[in-house]
Amino acid sequence: MARHAPREPVLVAYALQGERLVHVSQVVGGLACRCTCASCGQPMTANKKSGTRRHHFAHAQASACDGGVETVLRRVAKALLAELPSMRLPEYRYRRTFTVYGHGSVSIDQVVAPATRIALDEVYLEQPLGTVVSDAILEPAARRLLVEITVAGAVSRATLRTVRRLGLALLQVRLQPADAARPPEALKVKLDTDDAAKEWLFDPRQREAERTWLQRRRELVRVAQRVRQARDVVMNQALERARREPLPEWMKASAAAVTLGTEHRSSVRPREATGDDANPEVTDVRSLPSRR
Ligand SMILES: [Zn+2]
Repeated sequence: MARHAPREPVLVAYALQGERLVHVSQVVGGLACRCTCASCGQPMTANKKSGTRRHHFAHAQASACDGGVETVLRRVAKALLAELPSMRLPEYRYRRTFTVYGHGSVSIDQVVAPATRIALDEVYLEQPLGTVVSDAILEPAARRLLVEITVAGAVSRATLRTVRRLGLALLQVRLQPADAARPPEALKVKLDTDDAAKEWLFDPRQREAERTWLQRRRELVRVAQRVRQARDVVMNQALERARREPLPEWMKASAAAVTLGTEHRSSVRPREATGDDANPEVTDVRSLPSRR
C-alpha cells in the first residue's frame, strides 16, 4: 500500500469522463466507464461491486495519487452551488479576546449578521476580483457575497485583503476529504444547511465592531502601561532608599571586585539615572571610594 495509509484511505466517488466530472453512480462499473483521475489523468476503474462498502473510483494501476480529492470537491461544490435555489447562512458573531499578561484581558462578542436563508438568483463561478479569483459570487438582494470552498487549505490573505477593499462579504465553506465519497445530493444538503462547515471571514457590517474592538485593546494596553510605569516609580524610589543605606565593609570589598569589569559602563552615567536605564548595582559601585 502507499505510504499514506495509516488511516482509512480517502474514497473518491468522482472522476472525469472526458471533460465532464461524473459521480460513480452515473457510470458503468470497471474500466468500461472510461474515466480518468481529476488530478493525475490516469485511467480509473469504477468500483461498484456489491459488498463494496461505498462505490468509488480507484486508479487502474497502483498510484500514490489521492484521486484529486481537493480538485474534485471544489469543482463539484461549485457546480452544486450554482444549482441550489437558496442557501442557509449561519449567524456571524464578531468574537475576539486579547490578554495582557498580568493586567487582565478584554473581549468582544457582537452579532454582525443573524442567521438567514438567501435566495440564490445569481451565482457567478470563478470570477476574477482584482488579483484573485473567487470560487463563487452570490448576489442576494443587491448584496455581493463571495464563497470560497476549502478542503485542506485556507483562504489566502490576498483574497481577504481584496474582499475588504471592495467591501464584499466572504463566506468560507470547509469540506472534508471524506466528502469526496458522498453523492451529489448529500453534498448539496451539506452546502445548503451545514452551519458548522461555514465560517464568515468578513462582512462590511463588522467594521463598527472592529472599531470598538480596537478601542478596547488600546485602552487595555494604555492601562497596563500606566500600571507598569507606576510600578517602576515605586521600585526606583525603593532602590534609591536602599542605595542611601551604608554598605557593610565586606560588601564594599566584593562590590569593588565587580566594578573592575564594569568600569566603562558605570563611568558613563551619573548617579541620578532613573527609569529603565537605572542600573543600581553599577551606580552603587561607582560611588565606592576603593575604586582605583
Ligand atoms: Zn490520480
